[in-house]
Amino acid sequence: MKGIRKIAPYIPGNQPNYPNMIKINTNENPYPPSPKVEKALKEFKVEDLKRYSSLDNQLLKNALADKHQLLPEQLIIGNGSDEVLAFCFLAFFNSSESILFPDITYGFYKVWADLFHIPFKELPLTTDFHIDFSDYNQPNGGIVIANPNAPTGLFKSSEAVRTLLKKHPDVIVIIDEAYAEFAEETMLPLLDEFSNLIIVRTLSKSQSLAGLRIGYAIGDPRYIAVMESVKSSFNPYSVDLLAEKLAAAAVEDTSYYQKINEEICKTREWFVSKLATFGFQSLDSQTNFVLTTHKTIDVPALYHFLEEQNIFVRYFAKPARLKKYLRISIGTREEMEKTAAAIDCFLKE
Ligand SMILES: *Cc1c(COP(=O)(O)O)cnc(C)c1O
Repeated sequence: MKGIRKIAPYIPGNQPNYPNMIKINTNENPYPPSPKVEKALKEFKVEDLKRYSSLDNQLLKNALADKHQLLPEQLIIGNGSDEVLAFCFLAFFNSSESILFPDITYGFYKVWADLFHIPFKELPLTTDFHIDFSDYNQPNGGIVIANPNAPTGLFKSSEAVRTLLKKHPDVIVIIDEAYAEFAEETMLPLLDEFSNLIIVRTLSKSQSLAGLRIGYAIGDPRYIAVMESVKSSFNPYSVDLLAEKLAAAAVEDTSYYQKINEEICKTREWFVSKLATFGFQSLDSQTNFVLTTHKTIDVPALYHFLEEQNIFVRYFAKPARLKKYLRISIGTREEMEKTAAAIDCFLKE
């Protein structure tokens, strides 16, 4: 047949659903959304759904502008940050030169580049899984960096990112901050210095709202306007009315999220040190997950053993460099204690 697209889909972490399972495979937040979200849901008027959702998402933009001390014109909202990334790629990556991103990073960058026929180069991480920004000193049509990176969890300081932005003033540099609320700093202050910086964020991880599908980008209003045009040409009502209301309620409750995300970071430190007592080496995570390996055990066997106990973690058979690693999302302290106990059991078998 003529004209049929050949395409390899993005493969998300699977979504098992068993009673009493410990689901620590897709970096979801183990805590429920803010009680303010539940209140907003109860107060939601079903009748309002007969109208189309908002075209400009002012309600949510105002809430985000308040939270981050920005102007609403610096913001665009999408149906999850995956969609926001698609708007970015369509809006900013139209040169004939390759865009650049690491070979080990969030899998969707390659998927969008392929889908939109954007040429790209995947630059290898160093042997210890770091991003070396000097590798990016080559002609390019744009740069995409997850910071902290996934699935490594490693973080680049704002000093390093500033140097990168200075070196590439005539292309857009996207910094994907999906995990910034678990890290020591955000790149938001760099927006005042660099108009080529676009920061992408999501409510899926830090705000416990993976199922609601809200993401956003922040940047120079001139470039955000280009993204708005792409969105209008693609799916103008992509953010539904209920999602926008509930997301705004979440964004307003900063103290609740600060509390649960601090708890996750504390649990991460506890879990990493517990893993170390079993002989695991973990990368230095500034996220809500940890990438860990063990010199002597059969890592895929541990993955299957945990699965049999209804504990779901993430194993990447590809690329080859990740074959001896597991990526384990940080759940509640109780979930991580049970996971540690199961790993101990496996080691004693
Ligand atoms: C989870 C994740 C996303 C996608 O988030 P959604 O808003 O749920 O689409 C984007 N980037 C990175 C690095 C992620 O880990």
